[in-house]
Amino acid sequence: MKIKLNFELDELNLKRAEYFFDIYEPVRAIHDMPKKLFLGSKEPRKCRFCDKSKQEKATFSKKAHAISHFMGNKNLLSYFECDKCNEKFSQYENSFANFIGVNRTFLGVKSQTSKKIPKHKDLKERIDVFANNKEIYIDVQENKFKNYLDEETKTLNIPTQTQPFIPIHIPKLITKIGLSILEENELSDYKEALDFLIQEKEKDILFENNKFLNVPMCFINGFIEARPIALLFNKKSDREHILAPQKQVVIKFGNFIFQMALPFGKRDRQLLEKEFKRPLFPLDKSHIEEFGNSEYSLYNFSSCKQIVYHEKLCLSYDSMIEKD
Ligand SMILES: [Zn+2]
Repeated sequence: MKIKLNFELDELNLKRAEYFFDIYEPVRAIHDMPKKLFLGSKEPRKCRFCDKSKQEKATFSKKAHAISHFMGNKNLLSYFECDKCNEKFSQYENSFANFIGVNRTFLGVKSQTSKKIPKHKDLKERIDVFANNKEIYIDVQENKFKNYLDEETKTLNIPTQTQPFIPIHIPKLITKIGLSILEENELSDYKEALDFLIQEKEKDILFENNKFLNVPMCFINGFIEARPIALLFNKKSDREHILAPQKQVVIKFGNFIFQMALPFGKRDRQLLEKEFKRPLFPLDKSHIEEFGNSEYSLYNFSSCKQIVYHEKLCLSYDSMIEKD
């Protein structure tokens, strides 16, 4: 498959692009489709993750999304997941969705179970954010409103927090999406990554501070209707000598870009003891120009202890209307 990437880049991201594409080449992109499309083959049916087939009593009755449904993917499905693995992966999806917190409401993707756009409820700050008829409502306590308001910069800065989530579930979900894009014949190189996804949760503690579970994430300001897309990049064959992972996964949806090295590859074992390079995927200029600069932050998502993140919902306005 030939992939063409169109970019308009500022100076920093031009440098980033030169560096990234000097080492990596795109191999595959998957995204939502207007009609249902399945990755993999229906028969003979085998779970890519636990390697069990129908004959080995694995069942395949659940619909498996190749990119998670909460990210906005409706129609790109896969034949790769047995029901048992699918159930495990939905826990990872719950954590990931909780991590993006209030942005889930802004993303505007209806929940599969409730068929409604998820509400954000913060009981401590007493904030409700919900969608109604394509409009977003933010309900805050009247006496606190003036604390959030900055009239000089015309912004509202509302402190809130995410729902509880388990950090290690985030790289697990990205790994799952990455492994779904991988060609069948490359899977044997990623046996450890497959095990990492389906292992008993008691084993997760062994991955605390594992360098592969550091994930650069970028939140792009402003309203973006970015359809979910997952990209896979391969290290070029003449760049083997560079200390960088063999494969990179980039996932874009809504205001988010997540980038992660596909972890625990056979040929990446040597990287664990060394400082390795993390070339960053460039950010498109159209994304960063209008609403100010966006930048990557590196998140250590290796912990298996449930946490909440405190975050700030920042909104700018042009004018304010007072209503009773
Ligand atoms: Zn399975």
